[in-house]
Amino acid sequence: MRSTRALIYKNNLMHNLKTVGSFLRPKTKLCLAVKANGYGAGAITAANAAHACGAACVAVATVDEGIELRENRISCPILLLSLCSEDEVQLAVQHELSPLVCDNDYIAQFEKSAARAEKKIAVHLAIDTGMGRLGCAQDAAAALAQKIAAAPHLALAGTCTHFASSDEATADARVYTERQFADFVRAVQSMKEAGVNPGVCHCAASAATFTQPDMQLDMVRVGIAAYGYYGGEATLAAVAASGQALKPVMALQTQVSMIRRIHAGQYVSYGRTWKASHDTDIAVLPIGYADGLFRCLSSGCAHEDAQDKNERLHVAINGKQFPVVGRICMDQCMVELGSNSGVHRWDKAMIFGPYESGALQDAAAIAKMAGTIPYEILTSVSERVPRVVV
Ligand SMILES: *Cc1c(COP(=O)(O)O)cnc(C)c1O
Repeated sequence: MRSTRALIYKNNLMHNLKTVGSFLRPKTKLCLAVKANGYGAGAITAANAAHACGAACVAVATVDEGIELRENRISCPILLLSLCSEDEVQLAVQHELSPLVCDNDYIAQFEKSAARAEKKIAVHLAIDTGMGRLGCAQDAAAALAQKIAAAPHLALAGTCTHFASSDEATADARVYTERQFADFVRAVQSMKEAGVNPGVCHCAASAATFTQPDMQLDMVRVGIAAYGYYGGEATLAAVAASGQALKPVMALQTQVSMIRRIHAGQYVSYGRTWKASHDTDIAVLPIGYADGLFRCLSSGCAHEDAQDKNERLHVAINGKQFPVVGRICMDQCMVELGSNSGVHRWDKAMIFGPYESGALQDAAAIAKMAGTIPYEILTSVSERVPRVVV
């Protein structure tokens, strides 16, 4: 196996799921988002952990992701959070995925496909209360729900919405989320008044699950928290107040594949952006941007202007931090060891991970340096990086 790998700490995944569970109200069910290969941790690993922790269902973004789960004997309901293409509808039906629906056309396509397959498919009605992405208008919910209820091969299993700002701590964001929630509750009420059972009502993702327990309703859709990260400050505060902490699930590890002596005045990597000011040792690591180590984290690239020196990307080797120097290449990067570092060829080099991995930073720290969020760091670890469950 290659030196660069993603270690998946299954115990941490279980720990995080239990932590989420400790925040759930007695009747609230858990749906674990396992889209994007389980936020990089492995969709099957994540779905099995969800099952072991009593989750009611899992959620994916694409039909292919759903099929992968079915082919690995995941038999619980699978929510399909994004819209699929016309030619995927039949596959979604065949594998009994439960789509979010929000318009007549899409509902009709699923009814037609389900009828042809002689199946009854569970669907969830998505209502847009202010995310501006998927969902029907609030005043269209009742009529669409009636339409689903009247479709012989569809069952309205649930009704949902999605918050735009539940991971932000500002008063303005809180007011917006409360308004979204109130509108959702009102839309659900209108469905009931029209004589339709809305099924399982759900709106909270990780952030609201922790910070607004009153919005958990029948089910929560949790992703990032299960993989060990807080959507924002408010989530961190809520978990800390309970005396608990989430633990990163993934560690990104590589090995020193070579150590070279570089002399003062010599350059390292493309564009010669880094020049040794003194004689020093350079370690070559077989990890690059094609593995998910963003090129914008290189020292000497434009992004560096926005970083002070301490925020530059460092890699932990034997419990010490060493800076990445020169441009990160597609498949390799270089770190400066200095002299007498005590580092040897094949020593482990940790990019990020939980404390016990030997990493000295998590994906949130890397995200900050790259000007993004932990979600993107985790889901960017590419397919060619083998996942090793530890
Ligand atoms: C991905 C996703 C979630 C999970 O969000 P987290 O912030 O990772 O908990 C919930 N709901 C929908 C609709 C999603 O797309």
